[in-house]
Amino acid sequence: MSARRAMPSAAVIVVGTELVLGLRPDTNGPEIARFLAAAGYAPRTLFALPDDHTHLAAYLRTAIADHDLVVVTGGLGPTHDDVTREASADALGLALRPDSHLERALQAIAEGHREPRAAAQVLRQALVIEGARVLAPSIGTAPGQVVATARGSLVLLPGPPAEMRPMLAEAVEPFTSAEAPPPRVLGCVGIRESDAQLRAERALESHTGVALTVLGRPSLVDVVLIADGTDGSGLAAAADDVASALAPHCYATDGATLAEVVIRDATARGISIGSAESCTGGLVAAALTDVAGSSAVFRGSIVAYADDIKRSALSVSPGTLATHGAVSETSVREMALGAREALGVDVALGITGIAGPAGGTAEKPVGLVWFAIADHTTVTAGPVTFRGDRALVRTRATVHALDLLRRAVTPRS
Ligand code: AMP
Ligand code: MG
Repeated sequence: MSARRAMPSAAVIVVGTELVLGLRPDTNGPEIARFLAAAGYAPRTLFALPDDHTHLAAYLRTAIADHDLVVVTGGLGPTHDDVTREASADALGLALRPDSHLERALQAIAEGHREPRAAAQVLRQALVIEGARVLAPSIGTAPGQVVATARGSLVLLPGPPAEMRPMLAEAVEPFTSAEAPPPRVLGCVGIRESDAQLRAERALESHTGVALTVLGRPSLVDVVLIADGTDGSGLAAAADDVASALAPHCYATDGATLAEVVIRDATARGISIGSAESCTGGLVAAALTDVAGSSAVFRGSIVAYADDIKRSALSVSPGTLATHGAVSETSVREMALGAREALGVDVALGITGIAGPAGGTAEKPVGLVWFAIADHTTVTAGPVTFRGDRALVRTRATVHALDLLRRAVTPRS
């Protein structure tokens, strides 16, 4: 027998007809899975089910038999379609009993309702599976519950993310997390998925006990290293080697976003930044200002969509616009220089392109975007033609712009 205990297996079940129909995105499921992985569990399944008593009870019976920890979210509210409590009690073969504490707390809320039957519905939330530990709601009205099962436990959490989150931390005991570190995510940009995978695999040849997953997003690739089994001792060294193999595309090994890296590096070097945006309409500024503390270095963005605004706000010359057009090397250079001047920054980015679906020509197709970076001494410019629809072109252009800013403010090693 192994000296180490195996990682407990976990199942995450999200309950809600709206989730299965795609009317609302499931954010709880991935959040819970990440939390469990970080807490030392091995999430093995992530499943969505409608608000249906029979289906849910049947699925729960299997999940409880197959996994050490089963976490369910959704369907604990007061309305007719909230059946998770009843289905769980059924699956466990246990009774539901009203909890007097919860009943008292819910009474005041129940009295505020106008419909005569609403009070009884609200009080359903006081029903607790026998033997369960109650997770009191800090916001909202639905309590969570933790019930012992033959293999471990079943955790019931409310659906609204802000109500679910604090209860999750209260319900789940971390499991020897030192032995099973969370996955390491190496954020990469400007590299294709397969190239990233092959480079990472080569770097991992000298390491054992590390599994590799490669996750693509528009213009970004996450190279994920997972401790294989319970021993994660080699994960940090493997991450260092893979990051070196992926340089200069690897922008973070600590889970930071590209925008966070730009702000962090610019702040560390005292470089102020700004932008002049046309086709991205402020998306670069939105990404940068999403980062807490960005005001230390980000001074602003001028969204110059119309030609006359490019002239008046960024001093792009009328001759340039007439001769070369707004989507051109000359225009983007003048936009970056104009932004540097107008915003008074050390490094300014210019971005202008054709997001589509209309407006493309043979010479300037949809997806063509020009970028420029102006600093104290030089202006560098270059075009990229992105594939995809309008939203994708704008997203990819924003990522590329952030990468150019990163390369401009990050010290070369
Ligand atoms: P419930 O606990 O089922 O009454 O859920 C109440 C609300 O929480 C739903 O209307 C959803 O908007 C939200 N919600 C439920 N489950 C999830 C989930 N898995 N991810 C994100 N939001 C959810
Ligand atoms: Mg629901």
